[in-house]
Amino acid sequence: MQEWIRKSLHGRHLQDLCHSNVDNKASNEWLRRGELFPETEGFLMAIQDQVIETRNYQRYIMKLPNLQTDNCRRCNSSSETIQHITGACKAIVQTDYKYRHDQVANIIHQSIAQKYKLLEHPPITYYKYSPETILTDRTVHYNRPDITLVDKINKTAIIIDIAIPNTHNLQKTIAEKLSKYLELKEEITRMWKLNKVTMVPIVLSTTGVIPLQLASSLRSLDLPDYTYAALQKATILNTCRIVRKFLQASQDSSQTHA
Ligand SMILES: [Zn+2]
Repeated sequence: MQEWIRKSLHGRHLQDLCHSNVDNKASNEWLRRGELFPETEGFLMAIQDQVIETRNYQRYIMKLPNLQTDNCRRCNSSSETIQHITGACKAIVQTDYKYRHDQVANIIHQSIAQKYKLLEHPPITYYKYSPETILTDRTVHYNRPDITLVDKINKTAIIIDIAIPNTHNLQKTIAEKLSKYLELKEEITRMWKLNKVTMVPIVLSTTGVIPLQLASSLRSLDLPDYTYAALQKATILNTCRIVRKFLQASQDSSQTHA
């Protein structure tokens, strides 16, 4: 462990797990459950250990002589590190990252719908689930929250916002979500004449690292603690898919050029 954590590249994930805001045990739950294909499991560990052949890796670790740039092959705007691919590439925000985000949102949406007996069918697998669109009042001109739950009897509302940042951005993202919705919270309270509005961020990292904060978010939604394991699995599978697709696409195009 001492040797591993000292390694500047491979040790970073282990350092992340030792962070005081990270739930170490929950972050390794996907490994303990062992539900993934061995290839997927190994691939995610390679991503966590940063031994993926990105352009940055080719340049600084493999020291390939003929590489002209380590800029991202998709957006060309910054160095193509593994973190850039898993959560920071502008070129795939609206497609691959959105898809991953929406799958995690589906799990939360369906769990809540089931809890309040709003589901018109038995629960289905999250990637087949498509939540009904709920229109927000047009005077709310902020970015629309992912899920808004209004309890008309008790006059309360819960605003849920979901994000899947890279591990080093976990705490920053949680803080941003909370402050971003402060104003919206006040506006909704006033407009819908509610007694209480609660903002609940659902944040976990691209490689499945779980912040301690997630447990309290799930508790405030009155969802079972282990819900995080489903969120983690959906996130991990999507991150693996994103990285595979990213690296695959360039191989195909370089073959075409050849
Ligand atoms: Zn990029």
